[in-house]
Amino acid sequence: MIIDGKKESAIIKEEIKKEISALKKKINKTPNLSVILIGDFTPSQIYVKNKEKSAQEVGIGSEIIRYSKDVSEQEVLRKIKELNQDEKISGILVQLPLPNQIDKEKIINAINPSKDVDGFNPVNVGNLASGYKTVVPCTPLGCLILIKKVEKNLAGKHAVIVGRSNLNGKPMAQLLLKENCSVTIVHSKTKDLKAECQRADILVVAAGVANLIKEDWVKKDSIVIDVGINKVGDKIVGDVCYEEVKNKVRAITPVPGGVGPMTIACLLQNTLKCFKGR
Ligand code: NAP
Repeated sequence: MIIDGKKESAIIKEEIKKEISALKKKINKTPNLSVILIGDFTPSQIYVKNKEKSAQEVGIGSEIIRYSKDVSEQEVLRKIKELNQDEKISGILVQLPLPNQIDKEKIINAINPSKDVDGFNPVNVGNLASGYKTVVPCTPLGCLILIKKVEKNLAGKHAVIVGRSNLNGKPMAQLLLKENCSVTIVHSKTKDLKAECQRADILVVAAGVANLIKEDWVKKDSIVIDVGINKVGDKIVGDVCYEEVKNKVRAITPVPGGVGPMTIACLLQNTLKCFKGR
């Protein structure tokens, strides 16, 4: 089974659109997302444009606040404070990565947790780790939705996650633990990566290394979720050797068209959630 992230994300977006339209009729209010974009890093510009377009498609108001790459940390913190206090703003997102003069930790900490649509603020991270309801980072949330399209009950499954970033690996582990999986996180210092991957009923790969996972690294009939986005020549590929792995496993996400579209759909879902929570 090829897991179609485009199709699943379109379904989610349609549901959000309907809900926002109903909210508009009922309370005459709709969510607003503010995105802070610093510098002219091309991938960030593309991501932000896509987020804005998708927000508008479902009826979420969105504004991009642009700063040049030499903006001061003080200036960005001042803007975040202003957005935190603005009743009309339901979600705030600061596009990463940030230039060197800006401390990422300070910026993430400054966003009001109730408007933190990325789920990176330590309050939301702590809530997730405690198993409480919270805003969950968009990419792992999208991965979980895709996994559950294949298998509803994940209890007792052995999940292996390649990568331990705050963005992907760690929150993914928390989500799968909450689904009663036994979870192993592996990373660049893991002794026998291949052997760990071979044990996975569910394998989520977020390493950022093109074609890292080969056919003999995966268990037959497992579910493989490829988070990686890597540019090889003029092609975008994932972290999994898709062509050779796809015939062995039960289900796999393609790159592009797998996890990527789900990340945006989940961002919209988080923005609506933050709006409703206020
Ligand atoms: P990251 O912060 O660079 O983390 C990568 C993780 O993978 C680290 O924990 C690293 O280990 C581990 N790793 C790197 N090389 C490895 C290897 N050879 N063997 C085992 N582990 C290895 O990256 P990230 O932000 O999580 O992103 C990962 C990938 O996902 C990137 O390709 C990124 O573009 C993509 N991404 C996709 C989406 C989407 O929507 N599809 C969203 C976000 C990110 P150490 O901790 O030991 O260094």
